Amino acid sequence: SALDILDGCAAELARDTGPAIAPARPVLRERGQREVFCGLTGIIWLHRKMQDAFFLVVGSRTCAHLLQSAAGVMIFAEPRFATAIMEERDLAGMVDAQDELDRVVNRLLERRPDIRTLFLVGSCPSEVIKLDLAKAAQRLGAVHMPRVRILNYSGSGIETTFTQGEDACLSALVPVMPALAADAPKELLIVGSLPDIVEDQFLRLFAEMGIAKVGCLPARNARDLPSVGPGTRYLLAQPFLGETAMALEGRGAQRIEALFPFGVDGTSDWLRAAGEAFGIDRDLTEQVIAPGRARAARALANLRPQLEGKRITFLPDSQLEVPLARFLQDELGMELVEVGTPYLHRAHLARELDRFGPNVRLSEGQHLDRQLDRVRADRPDITVCGLGLANPLEGEGLTTKWAIELVFSPIHGFDQAADLAELFARPLRRRDMLEI
Ligand code: SF4
Repeated sequence: SALDILDGCAAELARDTGPAIAPARPVLRERGQREVFCGLTGIIWLHRKMQDAFFLVVGSRTCAHLLQSAAGVMIFAEPRFATAIMEERDLAGMVDAQDELDRVVNRLLERRPDIRTLFLVGSCPSEVIKLDLAKAAQRLGAVHMPRVRILNYSGSGIETTFTQGEDACLSALVPVMPALAADAPKELLIVGSLPDIVEDQFLRLFAEMGIAKVGCLPARNARDLPSVGPGTRYLLAQPFLGETAMALEGRGAQRIEALFPFGVDGTSDWLRAAGEAFGIDRDLTEQVIAPGRARAARALANLRPQLEGKRITFLPDSQLEVPLARFLQDELGMELVEVGTPYLHRAHLARELDRFGPNVRLSEGQHLDRQLDRVRADRPDITVCGLGLANPLEGEGLTTKWAIELVFSPIHGFDQAADLAELFARPLRRRDMLEI
């Protein structure tokens, strides 16, 4: 039955989420209807990060509308993403979609000489008609290299969640990263898209610690890719990059085990782990991170009274749920009722999960109705959920926070810790004012 097929796919995905590590706590595995954005959404933050890249979605009018509404204002003189809309004739196989695509890409690259990397982004419609974008990228690349590098990845919404778009995009970049010579000194690689201001803060701290060579994936210019090889030690800045991590390890890189850099504890652990991997003197590391730690701790102390003891549920959405829940529990005293995440990468999240209290209900995947029933029974003080669920839950008197806002906001590092806490405190203040 269709249900069996769906369950089969879901089980497959669960197996793909990384090396199996026996979970220390029971995980409620949910399979059913989902309510998440698709991977195309990642283009919204990726196009801002890679300033010489262009994202061409090969999709339908629905895909174009999603991008336009997710991007908000779309009135740019020179936008860096677009949708090549497949019409009925393409979908019915009445024209050669590969020829049409060549025509669109050639016209785009003629008009936009500033584009140095072009991503052809697959969608549900392009996958349904089995339009081979890898072949298209190869064919068009042969024509436009070296001026333009052409890559492809899938942002399709089938069985994915929206942050997987970044994972797919970054893993498409890994094979074209230059090789780090086998005898080169060790280099650090920060993996995951961060706002430039946050990335600069981290680069400054690593420089003060004495880690000389630090690369970022994605790089601000997609053509200035950092090198990768057996001498690469990488730190994940985002918890949703399972495929990218696997691709980097395929090229010899080794992951540095650390908490994710949210809050005082997470950021300190992340920086200390890098220091240890590079043989940096512990005292020097502590000296470098001390001012940031103190600033963040002071700022969080002001917000703690507003959040302490408040009960929170995360519905599965952004894949940021586990590290954010750890931060809210450990540093702000919030009570975790349920932490749901679309995929649980046990290896990448092992250290985070160790911090959870014994009563936290952990769930993986989504069965919308059952999850909503649990939220209604639990009645947490705040529920972090997708946009589509927020209004109905608010209508039932529950306070909500949009998960997607957490992806768009600068929340990593010491100086953003209070802003991150504020994102959760604000809806609670609004609720209190409405109640008054
Ligand atoms: Fe919808 Fe699929 Fe297009 Fe995403 S890729 S907007 S889920 S049709």
